[in-house]
Amino acid sequence: RFITFEGGEGGGKSTQVRALVARLEEAGIDVVATREPGGSFGAESIRDLLVTGAADRWSPITETLLMYAARRDHIERVITPALARGAWVVCDRFADSTRAYQGAGGGTDPALIAALETHVLGDVRPDLTLILDLPVEEGLRRAHKRAGDETRFESKGAAFHEKLRQGFLAIARAEPGRCVVIDAAQPVDDVGEAIWGAVSARLPL
Ligand code: C5P
Repeated sequence: RFITFEGGEGGGKSTQVRALVARLEEAGIDVVATREPGGSFGAESIRDLLVTGAADRWSPITETLLMYAARRDHIERVITPALARGAWVVCDRFADSTRAYQGAGGGTDPALIAALETHVLGDVRPDLTLILDLPVEEGLRRAHKRAGDETRFESKGAAFHEKLRQGFLAIARAEPGRCVVIDAAQPVDDVGEAIWGAVSARLPL
């Protein structure tokens, strides 16, 4: 089983990934928790290129290609081997982030992104994608409270983040069999319960 978490800034993805992984482990499941951009040694090196430097360091297409180079390494070295041994994989961001950030937000041609999905992902597609959705203003407020150096994308302005949000919601509408939108403005425990409800309904243990 392959589960991905998606959404804009400040939705609490990494907290919810940890909570879900803990619950699955309690249920006796072999779980691999990972993240993008990054998740393998090579992909983490590419992540360093992506998250540091000026906001316009890379053009949208270059950024898309770097994301996909990282994603391919992550798939080959971490995701495919884990799924092959029967583990569940829970990933903090995956291909939908490229559709939203580099596509809806950055203006990369959706046809390029679709071609990369075909050739680079192959049949490595999530069984379930949890989209943590909240108003842009609230998400940015939370993201700015968080200490850290990864502010390159957060600095892009509210209009960019609104495009992202609409991009993720459009993915959810287009693929309702795979995607569940979770209201991430709720208290953190309620978000966790909503996620657990979606996982147990869609992927019975
Ligand atoms: O998951 P997290 O929000 O920590 O993502 C790390 C950074 O990479 C964020 O600033 C996010 O906006 C950015 N990102 C991106 N394009 C992607 C995935 C992540 O700009 N496809």
